[in-house]
Amino acid sequence: MWRYAPWLPLKVGESPVSLGEGLTPLIEAPALARAAGVRRLRIKDESRNPTGSFKARGMSAAITRARGDGVPGLVVPTAGNAGAAIAAYAAAAGLPVRVFAPRTTPRPILETIDALGAHLERVDGHIGDAGKLAAAFAAESGWWPVATLREPYRVEGMKTMGFELAEQCGWSLPDVVVYPTGGGEGTVGIWKAINELVADGWLPPDTKQPRYVVAQAVGCAPLVRAFAAGADRAEPWVDPVTYASGLRVPGPFGDRVLLRILRETNGVAASVDEDTMREATRRLSAATGIDAAPEGGCALAVLEGLVRDGTVSPDADVVVFNTGVGASYRP
Ligand SMILES: *Cc1c(COP(=O)(O)O)cnc(C)c1O
Repeated sequence: MWRYAPWLPLKVGESPVSLGEGLTPLIEAPALARAAGVRRLRIKDESRNPTGSFKARGMSAAITRARGDGVPGLVVPTAGNAGAAIAAYAAAAGLPVRVFAPRTTPRPILETIDALGAHLERVDGHIGDAGKLAAAFAAESGWWPVATLREPYRVEGMKTMGFELAEQCGWSLPDVVVYPTGGGEGTVGIWKAINELVADGWLPPDTKQPRYVVAQAVGCAPLVRAFAAGADRAEPWVDPVTYASGLRVPGPFGDRVLLRILRETNGVAASVDEDTMREATRRLSAATGIDAAPEGGCALAVLEGLVRDGTVSPDADVVVFNTGVGASYRP
């Protein structure tokens, strides 16, 4: 992803902390397009990143700055994949890291965090509870907190998904982008990238942003509820439940900007239940050869629902993000 270095937080003379993240394939999925009832459907397969999720992009950018700026250590609350990614990049940078993750995080992810040499704290509760403990530890240790959208650099790494999308689509954008959204960093990153490409002349000034679709699980859908109510903030979701751990984020810090992106792009937020998600994940994998995460299946199932109810046109050219690898969720 560092081929886009002029748009990333890298100072002159610095080298990035990189493990080969980014430049993931955009895979044509004609069988899924037919089944969903859209003209064209492609999967942006983020499972190919180091530690198996798009979180690698944000952590590569953030840990590059952390090392460059001489921070003593790193601390992060995570629903899972961000912990594995920060463990990898901290190891690559030679920095100590403490990860706070819910006890209920899929075991392969917790084992990856541990295997990469991070100090792992298993937390009772959800990512919000982990966030409180992480903030307290950061305050007492002086280590740098790297929580979603609460520091400036992770989202900069996430922008590279938007740069790649534009480049891989031949500098013309799809009509609809479906992103399984928890904290919102992925969605905000793509949107920010498209704005920057227009501002810098890589896309024409009259470029329209794609319609963004925020896909969530019915057991944790704060953005869907806020969008349906026409609110500009999301109230925290009580008792968040979903096996798609990346979506188990009851109080997304980026709620206001996400809801604004949905309004400004004629986007929408929608959710599906666990059985629908599980079934769509299997279909996504079996139809494409991608070992999809449940979050990717969630995005596919949400798209299918939106075509059925007429929100997305059968003529649409759609990109669905598969944000992680299915293997991380199999005990
Ligand atoms: C973190 C994560 C998400 C949610 O991404 P946000 O940027 O927090 O909205 C979706 N899928 C997977 C696999 C994740 O790890």
